[in-house]
Amino acid sequence: MTLSKKSKTAKVLRNVKKNKAARIKHSKLKKKTAILLWVPVVHAGYIKFFEENGGDAFVIGKTLVEDYPRLERDIRAVDPKHIAKSLSTILRRKVQVLDKKIQVFAKKYPRVVMAAEEMSETVAKKFLLKNEVEYKPAFLRWDKKISDTENKIDPHRKISVDALHKELVLRAKLEGSKSPDWWRQIGALLVRNGKVLTSGHNKHLPHLRHQDSFGDPRMNYDYGEAPNTYLSIHAEAHALVLAARQGIKTEGADMFVSIFPCSNCARLISQSGVKRVYYGGGYSMLEGEKVLKDAGIEIVLVQ
Ligand SMILES: [Zn+2]
Repeated sequence: MTLSKKSKTAKVLRNVKKNKAARIKHSKLKKKTAILLWVPVVHAGYIKFFEENGGDAFVIGKTLVEDYPRLERDIRAVDPKHIAKSLSTILRRKVQVLDKKIQVFAKKYPRVVMAAEEMSETVAKKFLLKNEVEYKPAFLRWDKKISDTENKIDPHRKISVDALHKELVLRAKLEGSKSPDWWRQIGALLVRNGKVLTSGHNKHLPHLRHQDSFGDPRMNYDYGEAPNTYLSIHAEAHALVLAARQGIKTEGADMFVSIFPCSNCARLISQSGVKRVYYGGGYSMLEGEKVLKDAGIEIVLVQ
């Protein structure tokens, strides 16, 4: 073999090695990433999440989340085995249940893509401490984190410094002070053309001191937690039912509240015909703000 032939052969061999190395590197890169989700039910959001993210697909198995008895309250929850099977069929891609073999998984997949939600963080913080975990924002279910989030109300909202509006919010606060609730006192006024039609505050039923005698489930929660757990009638609901009782039309009226309505009251207000909600502060929880806006209700912060 001549020298030039020898160097040509060497070059070819080098290229073969290079390509092989590139192929291995490529397949390693592909292997490196896994998508891991907690999927209680199959719905479009989960399917989209898997479709939009490359890598080997996994659903979180039961043993990884057994510290979370709260999950068992989700009556919709399907066994992860069935979830994986149906997702594999829908996605035409292998979806596996990740259970006891999470240590092997953690070594095999340095990079793990998860949805930014409570269960992802729980599993990652416990089992994937050395992995690069990417949390992608996605609304898949009402996890505890989302349910408790105090959503900042749209900063582009209207702000009023009108003297009459200020006076009415103050009156709503005074109405709230009538509440015997140990936790918080909220007032609401139904108003038309600046005239107060009805006023309500949050109170326990069937009598004002009911919670003093029988306790209150709210005692289990801190401020902002479990916003839908309460035994009282809320101020906004109180003002609206008083209007119904007295035959006062709510269509086209305004509502003044000491703090931003909770999502239950927002739903009630959205169906009442109220056109504007003036509030003195607070935050929107769950989908309260959206419900009001979708109903075409103007939201005005009174400062
Ligand atoms: Zn409420």
